[in-house]
Amino acid sequence: MAFNFCSITSGSSGNCLYIGTPKVNLLIDAGISGKRVQAGLDQINVNPREIHGIFITHEHSDHIKGVGILSRRFDIPIFATSSTWSAMDEMGNMLGKIKPEHRQVVEKDKDLIIEDLIIHPYSIPHDAADPVGYTFVHGNKKISIATDLGHMNDYIKDNIRESNLILLESNHDIDMLKSGSYPYYLKRRILGDRGHLCNEIAGKTLVEIFHDKLKTVILGHLSKENNYPDLAYMSVRNELMEAGIEVDHRLELTVASREETSKIFEV
Ligand SMILES: [Zn+2]
Ligand SMILES: [Zn+2]
Repeated sequence: MAFNFCSITSGSSGNCLYIGTPKVNLLIDAGISGKRVQAGLDQINVNPREIHGIFITHEHSDHIKGVGILSRRFDIPIFATSSTWSAMDEMGNMLGKIKPEHRQVVEKDKDLIIEDLIIHPYSIPHDAADPVGYTFVHGNKKISIATDLGHMNDYIKDNIRESNLILLESNHDIDMLKSGSYPYYLKRRILGDRGHLCNEIAGKTLVEIFHDKLKTVILGHLSKENNYPDLAYMSVRNELMEAGIEVDHRLELTVASREETSKIFEV
């Protein structure tokens, strides 16, 4: 009944996550080079030819850069909402030519079942055509992916509730972003309603959705300029501790690396 998760890379310069059950292997996004994805999969002993699909969250390049090449090289179908497909097509060369049978459509709020895995896309507030997050259920276990969130809301919380493992965005420290070197328009974009989630809100969200069976929290999509892994970790841990939630052997809190592939987390 193994239900596995791995962050191949996570951060503003490229995102690619892996989920596996005894029967299914999936990627969520591939915003790094095909070669880098292959190296990551190699590290966790997954054959890229055995990937059943790449599920796209949205069309920003840090999520789709390597998608086309992987699909062609290893014959992998790509799953995205129809508006995300249109947006990717309009971008021209980023994806390259995709075989018609590799163009698969997902619908928000509608389960998709592949073998022993239920995949559930849900809408997220972000400045893309039709961005989604995903939850995955295998047996009685649940994994949730929630990044690229301009703000937190009840609908997202309801979707990611009752997870055993969550990869949650902890993009920036608000003070670092405000006092940092980013131009004004970019600061406004990131802080905006359809930008990215800060460390503090990530922590507060976890407090709200915490339950006994939440065993692993991985903070992801960190900004290179406006955050440090230790700062994200401490900010979130402080929020949890203030609410009386201990980060100990029962709850593993960790930060996904921007460059390095994580271990395999078994849920
Ligand atoms: Zn984005
Ligand atoms: Zn992103």
